[in-house]
Amino acid sequence: MLYPTPIAKLIESYSKLPGIGIKTATRLAFYTIGMEEDVVNEFAKNLLAAKRDLAYCQICGNLAEEETCAICQDQTRDVSTILVVEDSRDVSAMENIQEYHGLYHVLHGLISPMNGVGPDDINLKSLLTRLMENEVTEVIIATNATADGEATSMYISRVLKPAGIKVTRLARGLAVGSDIEYADEVTLLRAIENRTEL
Ligand SMILES: [Zn+2]
Repeated sequence: MLYPTPIAKLIESYSKLPGIGIKTATRLAFYTIGMEEDVVNEFAKNLLAAKRDLAYCQICGNLAEEETCAICQDQTRDVSTILVVEDSRDVSAMENIQEYHGLYHVLHGLISPMNGVGPDDINLKSLLTRLMENEVTEVIIATNATADGEATSMYISRVLKPAGIKVTRLARGLAVGSDIEYADEVTLLRAIENRTEL
């Protein structure tokens, strides 16, 4: 079906989002043109601002509105512990349970031997630099319980152990293949309390 260019382009944009097929994209595009103009303006503004005003923290890789994120700037955090996660959504999930008070390191991906993703392809080097420059006594690995999560966890512990840093992994309360991001608070709380040394 041929649509006028503006809506065809909008459909094309929506279809670039993950999990959105052409049918859903078309439905969203038609919904959008039926929306109030100020709502659409607000939507477009938020879209641009999210891209323009956010960057990754230069220390930990978490989403930040300045050069460093709010957690790295917080003087009350326990700087002796770094919790390593795949992305900023995991930071948010951990922060929600209000049980962890250390720092984070966001990898922006996982080592994936199957997909040719190696240690240099993720935000890992800067973790090693942080460990050399700061007095960190424990690194908690909180990657998801997937094959890639395991590969990443194993690699990090292999690199850090000779340096005398305690490396722990979230307990297995999390089901295999499950996402930390979606784990309920009780499960996450138990996983961090019962973390095991690697
Ligand atoms: Zn940070």
